[in-house]
This record gives sequence, structure tokens and C-alpha cells, in this order.
Amino acid sequence: MPKVNCPCCKKILFYREIKDLPYFPFCSNRCKLIDFGKWMDEKYCIAEDESSDGAKSIVEKGEGING
Ligand SMILES: [Zn+2]
Repeated sequence: MPKVNCPCCKKILFYREIKDLPYFPFCSNRCKLIDFGKWMDEKYCIAEDESSDGAKSIVEKGEGING
């Protein structure tokens, strides 16, 4: 019986035909969406990292001052 590991949760899925797994190669729609989301995030990060020149953006704290 052929099997495949879900790329998201690594669960082993057994199948007789590809069509037995509606979300192939994922075990479920949830895993499919999670993996797709990760892929999107990565692409976004890479695109944004292009302009990094040793200068990090400074995050100012908007906290109230005691005194
Ligand atoms: Zn999964």
C-alpha cells in the first residue's frame, strides 16, 4: 500500500489511489491551509529582507512615563 507523509504534521497517510486523499499530499484541509500560509509568510519575509543593510528599525515604546 503506498503511503505519504503529510508535509505539515508528518502524519503517515496510507492510500490505494491518490484520489483517496482529497487533500493530497496533506492529511486534511487544515494542514493544507497551514502549509500554504507558511509558504506565503516565507515569501513575504524574503521580499522584505532585501533592503536590510545592517540598519534595524527602531521600535519605540509607547508606554506612559512615571514621575
Ligand atoms: Zn497533516
